[in-house]
Amino acid sequence: MSEVRVRIAPSPSGNLHVGTARTALFNYLFAKKNNGKFVLRIEDTDAERTSQEYVDNIFDSLKALGLNWDEGPDVGGNYGPYTQSERFDIYPKYIQELLDKGFAYECFCTPEELEAEKEEATRNKKPYVYTRKCENLTEEEKAKLRAEGRKPAIRFNIAKAQKAFHESSILEFDDLVKGKLHMDTDLIGDFVIMKSNGAPTYNYAVVIDDALMHITHVIRGEDHISNTYKQILIFEALGFEVPRFGHLGMILAPDRSKLSKRHGATAVSDFVEQGYLTDALLNFVALLGWAPSDGEEIKTVDEIAADFRIGEISSSNSIFEYDKLKWMNSQYIKKIPTEELKEMLKKYLTKYDLTELTDAQYTRMIEITREPLTLLSDITDAVPYFFGGKNVEIDPEVQTNTIETELSQDVLKTFVEQAETWEWTEENLHEKLEAFRGYFKEQKGYKPKFTMWAIRAAVTGRTCGADMVATLVILGKENSLARAKKALK
Ligand code: GLU
Repeated sequence: MSEVRVRIAPSPSGNLHVGTARTALFNYLFAKKNNGKFVLRIEDTDAERTSQEYVDNIFDSLKALGLNWDEGPDVGGNYGPYTQSERFDIYPKYIQELLDKGFAYECFCTPEELEAEKEEATRNKKPYVYTRKCENLTEEEKAKLRAEGRKPAIRFNIAKAQKAFHESSILEFDDLVKGKLHMDTDLIGDFVIMKSNGAPTYNYAVVIDDALMHITHVIRGEDHISNTYKQILIFEALGFEVPRFGHLGMILAPDRSKLSKRHGATAVSDFVEQGYLTDALLNFVALLGWAPSDGEEIKTVDEIAADFRIGEISSSNSIFEYDKLKWMNSQYIKKIPTEELKEMLKKYLTKYDLTELTDAQYTRMIEITREPLTLLSDITDAVPYFFGGKNVEIDPEVQTNTIETELSQDVLKTFVEQAETWEWTEENLHEKLEAFRGYFKEQKGYKPKFTMWAIRAAVTGRTCGADMVATLVILGKENSLARAKKALK
């Protein structure tokens, strides 16, 4: 068998969507598994809907996910993507071939005429297919229309191609994911393959590119199934080998509607911005339609590639469970060495003055706050009390319900008096605070946790947070005691 060649072919009409990231991943995995090649092609034939910003976003997001493509034009020593708009000189040649073979014809219909046809079909309650008004125009008729200043679009002749290569109007193909699929091609209208301005349309350009790039397997979303019939006929009409197709189920939101921004992030770059790790995101999308044979869900891309079989991809839709992604992200965060995490988190700590802390203090702060993080961005709200020196913002509820109680005031008064002489190390503070709690329990019957809450509330302004002793040491004796004193009435 020839070398396996797959591609991801996003249209730059938005930032890279997680759904496209999953399609890219499955193509990448399929290539890896089969020692094949993975190609990136930017499909920007629709100039009005595309922008360079989106091209850059797609490029950067795929790179960030580690879904590197194997070839492409040279851009500064790296592979650039293949870009359809840079290939416009290639497409007319095959249009001419289709015209010559009678598989395509010029259509002079104006948008108004086509609109009228559509309205007519709606009035008759019939699905609209182009009436083929222009199929059999004579040369004189065409010349006359040209003389009127009309420029033709080119339409593909479905019935002719179907008849040339198939026995009936039914076109069938064996989908890698969904099995045998078929359609009656009489229901497909002769579609435009080149617009009157010379721009190729998606269904046409995709075939030329897949053919010239020797793509062997087209793996994409099931929203493209109806296009596949059109594309197969163009492949056949031009004598190109038809690739195998595999259509993935859609990704739905937890409420089973189409995944959209109102459910949460949908673009890879938005997930990254919110503090998701690209490794976790990639692992998560791999599980949308595919399941590891050993049931172990946390896996590297290499492990997934080794276990990946395209025939085992579920043909049904998958639900995008944001909660599960969060859980997975937390698992990935746990695995990051602190030295690395320290750097990654800085991006989410820009509202604080990090120079208030030495490197050792910063390290310790991350060590004691990293455990509950599900998103990297969670760090922002987890650490305000490590900054501000002698001042700390107190939650008003904590002020009334915890700091101002008689118990807390009693505890804090003694704490301020006694702690002045304590050696301010974690080891010593552990010992001292244990004795301190014990004293209040024995002498006054205060539960140890209330004693500690009093100190935590005064020093951090909150009733829960990172390890108290480590927090006190990071803040230092002076700041800690100043905060405790301020809390006294
Ligand atoms: N450009 C198409 C899209 O973004 C993909 C086409 C394909 O994979 O064939 O939906």
